[in-house]
Amino acid sequence: MNAQTQIPNQPQARPAFGSVLASTMAMATYAGGRWSAHEFKPVGPIPLSPAAHVLHYASTLFEGFKAYRWDDGSVNVFRMDRHIQRMQQSARALALAEPETGQLAEMVLGVIDRVREEVPEAPGALYLRPLLFGTTPNIGAAATPPSELMLLVMASPVWDYFAGGMKPLKIHVETQATRCASHLGMVKTGGNYAAAMGPTLAAKREYGVDQVLFCPGGEVQETGAANFLLIRDGHILTRSLDATFLHGVTRDSLLKVAPELGYRVEERVFTVAEMLEWVRDGEAALSGTAAVLAGVGSLMVEGRPHPVGNGEVGPHTRRLREVLVSMQQGTRPAPEGWLKRV
Ligand SMILES: *Cc1c(COP(=O)(O)O)cnc(C)c1O
Repeated sequence: MNAQTQIPNQPQARPAFGSVLASTMAMATYAGGRWSAHEFKPVGPIPLSPAAHVLHYASTLFEGFKAYRWDDGSVNVFRMDRHIQRMQQSARALALAEPETGQLAEMVLGVIDRVREEVPEAPGALYLRPLLFGTTPNIGAAATPPSELMLLVMASPVWDYFAGGMKPLKIHVETQATRCASHLGMVKTGGNYAAAMGPTLAAKREYGVDQVLFCPGGEVQETGAANFLLIRDGHILTRSLDATFLHGVTRDSLLKVAPELGYRVEERVFTVAEMLEWVRDGEAALSGTAAVLAGVGSLMVEGRPHPVGNGEVGPHTRRLREVLVSMQQGTRPAPEGWLKRV
């Protein structure tokens, strides 16, 4: 595997997000109605039947979050509890046995502890990727959930997401195609990314955009892997939670800290027309664990560009990102329970 990849010293030459795995992973299996004890092992190939349920019927879900190396040398994981809860919620939605809270936490913390030397300095981090999937070998089980599962926790050292500078994103506004089945939008499951692939590649090819903002029926949802926020002086607007889109922990964290920074938070359904009105003099941003907050510079509607503000990453987007990153890095106090020292 690529755990042995030499890591170049040049910041510009650092590996792409997710392309390097840390040396240790954790593994547990589910069978006969119970979870096995977990083990830690060198990251590497796993045994899997070609008839494994996941390979045919996409019984799979994952999580993504980060642990940060602080100036004092400690490693601290951000909002692990929320990510464990979301993984359990995803498992329920797909009729898979839920990982147990205590065991999954031990697996995550155990991996971090074992690879702590591999955690990059800020603005790098250790990205954690728990993964749950159906291993039952039965190709006739399209309508039956798998009774055997594998739970893995792998980790990936990641470096500065904006190493090349914070470039404003160009986004295609998609009002026809959907990102995924509407009842699975809130589930972090592989099939959703497969479903979004076609429309995303088509928009990239046709309009030269970075991402697609899915707005079926003219209602703004989210992009392929990030939530969407409108920001202006003293005001943040984002879609209210429902089953159609992923309930991001970054989104939740931003909305929790925003009021004390002087922003009124409004969560409701809003339309493409309202968004285009907003961005004439307001900001738009994407939120997610990987980038935290990324500024949008232009919205393309049917091939016509609508600049967001002056087309640059705006001051509110930069400020909100800075606040959240400082909390993750331990240089600004974070709400109780958001960070766990490993
Ligand atoms: C993971 C993900 C997000 C962001 O969630 P965070 O918890 O903030 O990282 C948003 N949308 C989709 C579709 C995602 O997969």
